[in-house]
Amino acid sequence: MSSTFVIDRPVSFSAQDKPDDSPYVYSRWDNPTVTVLQDKLASLEEAEACRCFASGMAATSALLLSTLGPGDRLVISDALYPGTAEFARVTLTRLGVEVVSANLSDLDSAEQAIVPGTRLVWGETPANPTLRMTDIAGVADIAHARGAELAVDSTFATPIATRPVTLGADYVVHSLTKYCCGHGDAMGGAVIGRRETLRSIESDGQIYMGGVISPFNAWLINRGLATLPVRMQAHEANAFVLARFLESHPRVIRVLYPGLDTHPHHALASQQMENYSGMVSVQVADGPELAIKMMRQLKVFHYAVSLGHHRSLIYWLGTDDLMTSSYKLHGEQLDAYRAFAGDGVFRISVGLEDPEDLCDDLAQVLG
Ligand SMILES: *Cc1c(COP(=O)(O)O)cnc(C)c1O
Repeated sequence: MSSTFVIDRPVSFSAQDKPDDSPYVYSRWDNPTVTVLQDKLASLEEAEACRCFASGMAATSALLLSTLGPGDRLVISDALYPGTAEFARVTLTRLGVEVVSANLSDLDSAEQAIVPGTRLVWGETPANPTLRMTDIAGVADIAHARGAELAVDSTFATPIATRPVTLGADYVVHSLTKYCCGHGDAMGGAVIGRRETLRSIESDGQIYMGGVISPFNAWLINRGLATLPVRMQAHEANAFVLARFLESHPRVIRVLYPGLDTHPHHALASQQMENYSGMVSVQVADGPELAIKMMRQLKVFHYAVSLGHHRSLIYWLGTDDLMTSSYKLHGEQLDAYRAFAGDGVFRISVGLEDPEDLCDDLAQVLG
């Protein structure tokens, strides 16, 4: 937990001159507990290097702010974590970045949006909250042919399911708060990629913007990673039981789970994911009223945001609300979103409880 370290040989006071073999000096530069977590995540993703941050958004903003400048073009998926969408649209635009949102799940739309001169492409797969899939290798080829780099937010997949760097992505981003931690008790984020390209993310993101992870949280997330493979197996097994139960329920309009062949991108999911993860989205009539009933009556589920915890979590994401607050999609892009989510979905993070208890709990509120 130390913030500073005893120095036993001369070392520069400026982070600008920080050598690769620098001793530990100060925890905003490097910390041994955080180094253990970074090395473990790089290894899990089959990548060269990793830099950890205080949260997934700290990792996201560090990557975007250290990579992009005025006049640069960012092509960003139109289905993604709302915080990322808002940060790109509001903050990056204010700083002079050209932000274009595109349906990256459709390679023709990706080709049209990723014009030569694009600096960075940002995808998320499976995407929040529709669980739409993006072909990482396909988008990486398009991006690289036009001189752009590809970043993939792989929070829902985890390195157990997908390792985007091995498919051609230049950067992988995780909210470690979710599956990697797994216990709902620590926030963190990571950017993973090539050692050379992570240098500016280290100096701008960690050393100057200072969004470093607490060593205590790094320790908690290290503990979580030890059980990640077995937890992901259990999340997936429980998600299958719950998704099939919901598909057979008369009040349910539609279930979105990449592991089911009713998911429009099931074939891509089978090819790109070694585990379908534990996220299930479900359309039900009267979502807002049902949400209130859930807040009062659910016994096993927690009605709460976030995901990837041992506890099952459920939350209503209304399409109109999301469009007004975060996504601002129109025309074809809005139609494509509605084709997945209709008027809204309950996003379910299926936990590690007995799956029969989970089905019973939803059955008693669905009626
Ligand atoms: C939660 C989440 C984030 C943001 O992470 P925080 O740790 O909450 O800052 C980014 N992307 C995805 C896909 C997420 O689920």
